[in-house]
Amino acid sequence: MARIVLKFGGTSVADMGRIERAAGKIAREVALGHEVAVVVSAMSGVTNQLADHCNAITPIYDAREYDTVVSSGEQVTAGLMAIAIQKLGIEARSWLGWQVPILCSEVHGKARIEDIDSSKMLRHLGRDQVAVLAGFQGITERNRIATLGRGGSDTTAVALAAALEADRCDIYTDVDGVYTTDPRIVKRAKKIKKISYEEMLELASLGAKVLQTRSVEMAYKRDVPIQVLSSFDDAIGSDLVGTLVTREEDIMEKQVVNGVAYDKNEAKITLINVPDIPGVAAEVFGPLTDCDINVDMIVQNVSSDGKVTNITFTVPKEDLDRATECIKNIDKLKGADVRSDKDIVKISVVGIGMISHAGVAKVMFQTLADKGINIQVIATSEIKISVIIDKEYLELAVRALHTAYGLDAESAA
Ligand code: ASP
Ligand code: MG
Repeated sequence: MARIVLKFGGTSVADMGRIERAAGKIAREVALGHEVAVVVSAMSGVTNQLADHCNAITPIYDAREYDTVVSSGEQVTAGLMAIAIQKLGIEARSWLGWQVPILCSEVHGKARIEDIDSSKMLRHLGRDQVAVLAGFQGITERNRIATLGRGGSDTTAVALAAALEADRCDIYTDVDGVYTTDPRIVKRAKKIKKISYEEMLELASLGAKVLQTRSVEMAYKRDVPIQVLSSFDDAIGSDLVGTLVTREEDIMEKQVVNGVAYDKNEAKITLINVPDIPGVAAEVFGPLTDCDINVDMIVQNVSSDGKVTNITFTVPKEDLDRATECIKNIDKLKGADVRSDKDIVKISVVGIGMISHAGVAKVMFQTLADKGINIQVIATSEIKISVIIDKEYLELAVRALHTAYGLDAESAA
């Protein structure tokens, strides 16, 4: 017998038929003798609609009230799911965040889970009752409802799994796992059987939008194995057909490169003729941080004359105008020329095996060179190499790299 947390995302609970189908999967896990807790999202589209309602009244709404509104979607599906499970002759009850309770920070709209007191829920699980928890929500010390940021139900599920010391957290979604790259671009993309937390973190933050990044961070920290699987297949979590995100030590076959990811949401800023004196980087990136702009890749050149140099960095596309505005107001940069470029894309190759294998970068650069693709910026971490290229070459680059690292499946997916 195992204790498992099952999470159903918005498309998996999009209508009554799908809720009943999910309940059927829950019933099959119960029949195997497992103790089951369930976390649900709102029906797909509902959270957007609720957020639109707030915006329609005023775009400068009270974030605490916004949370009261948008958290309601999950309340509906939690109750409906409990009813659907009961219909199958299994005991179930719904739980809202405050009933557990799930204690959150007071950053309304993107609160963090601080503590889960799982004792009450554990007593119910021990009585063969399925617990159905509304995802995405918790309660603050001031007794207000808070939500965890978009996609936050993943984090609720992992946090609950950690609090319950569950054996596994199954995330049911509309794809059947994590792929070596976007299957819409590469038909021969393969489903990854096992991937480490570290790799998944890189892929999640690189825009492989399967799991909320924060949920992977939490799984890593608390060592909760996550399985990503489709709610539209006949299989259930215990069949272990999805992608397992787990500790590196539990992965026997380590790929040098496990995935090729891309991110179209960045823009590049280049500052030309920046004085080459101590403190300039702080002068540039300090104000950007103060404006809440997340800088990603940063490259600074050695100056050839010892007087001026160039700095290139990337920011989210949506923040580009704010970022350039912010830089233009910095005194020390008055003589610098600020150039920006939105027509770029970041391509990254990720793999835990890079730590012990040389030559991964060489393959990447040679492959892009062979296709005549110019690399504008390069950044690396222990398990990732990222480059910025012209967005025109996105598909060509992803396909070529997928082949170059031997990731293509025998036949098209
Ligand atoms: N319903 C919320 C959202 O759409 C939370 C979630 O589904 O994870 O962002
Ligand atoms: Mg999601």
